[in-house]
Amino acid sequence: MIILVINAGSSSVKFTLFDMSDDKKVLATGLIERIGIDGTSMKYSNWKGEKSQGPVAVKNPKEAVQVISERLVDPKYGVIGALSEIKAVGHRIVHGGEKVNKPVRVTEEVKQILKDCFSMSPLHNPHNLAGIEACETVFKGVPNVGVFDTAFHSSMPPRTFLYGIPYELYTQDQIRRYGFHGTSHAYVSRAAARFDGRPIESLKIITAHLGNGASITAVKGGQSYDTSMGLTPLEGVVMGTRSGDLDPAVIFHIMKIKGLSYQDVDNLLNKKSGVLGLAGIGSSDLRDVEEAANKGNAQCAQALDLYAYRVRKYIGAYLAALGGLDILVFTAGAGENSSTLRAAILEGMDGLGFKLDKAKNDVRSSEIRVISAADSPYKIMVVPTNEELAIAEFTGEVLGG
Ligand code: ADP
Repeated sequence: MIILVINAGSSSVKFTLFDMSDDKKVLATGLIERIGIDGTSMKYSNWKGEKSQGPVAVKNPKEAVQVISERLVDPKYGVIGALSEIKAVGHRIVHGGEKVNKPVRVTEEVKQILKDCFSMSPLHNPHNLAGIEACETVFKGVPNVGVFDTAFHSSMPPRTFLYGIPYELYTQDQIRRYGFHGTSHAYVSRAAARFDGRPIESLKIITAHLGNGASITAVKGGQSYDTSMGLTPLEGVVMGTRSGDLDPAVIFHIMKIKGLSYQDVDNLLNKKSGVLGLAGIGSSDLRDVEEAANKGNAQCAQALDLYAYRVRKYIGAYLAALGGLDILVFTAGAGENSSTLRAAILEGMDGLGFKLDKAKNDVRSSEIRVISAADSPYKIMVVPTNEELAIAEFTGEVLGG
């Protein structure tokens, strides 16, 4: 079964074409970026190793999907004979609110749910919907499946999803914790259980997705029990540019003393805080901050220390929330690649059951692997995430493939 995965964002459309019947092979992948602004261009590569990169005349998501479809059947770069070989399109969608608890086939009702969540996800949901509508036109009659970042967390109980604010704000205005990165947390927890050879239903797992955005999830029996992001992705650990948890009064105080508007503070906490704001070297990339810290920049060292400490606090909290643990999983850019960060996060936790094997932790690899010592009470693993493949798998499952 050939499945196209589409991730439509504010100015880019990313795509990957999988042949699920041929060992989930990636037939082609790429993106069109700077849509709607100057310098719109497309990057493309296929399984034969052929690559192309260059400007494209694309002004909106529909034109982007049209150009992608043409490239997939292109006589030179194409990988399929006809578009009719594509049996489904899986879409990454950020917010499904309370009404979506699993990947679903897109219907008019599902599109309405997506629209109802615009106010909670103004930067993503409108573009996700535009991507779906583009595919409905370009791939006529091909089913679209929505894979929602929030869906995996719909299993959270009220004790973890409610905020301590008047209950009517939940019942009337749906203000609650939703959680994000669900596709990644679901994928890596399943993969960890499979690799470990135990049924996920019997396992307690903590997944630490540490990329540009970062979130930690407590997974009980294969279901999300608690997660660090909330109503929006701002809550939780310190991230590349987001503050993570803070006293809400900080917001009112900053507004008052700095004379900032609501939008200014939104921008400050989402775009200028986290590692970017703390390290002070103009980069949110942990690689840059690690490099500067290694050269003696004390502010960068402090930022990394704080980053690691906040993740450690969540791991400790979720160990208690789950009442024990089987596997701790590190994933995403920093979680997969930075052995120093993993070691810093787990510093001083040997006695609590998290014993790293230093040599195994230091190995660089893109494979799933165990990095805990043989006598570690809890297994510690690195599991490379693959959200595109996860979306393709979920899409296949929804269509009974
Ligand atoms: P995104 O969250 O945007 O999907 P990734 O999961 O790829 O992206 O994470 C990207 C981030 O991962 C980078 O900004 C960087 O902070 C971090 N990262 C990637 N590789 C390393 C590394 N070797 N060491 C430290 N951090 C890394």
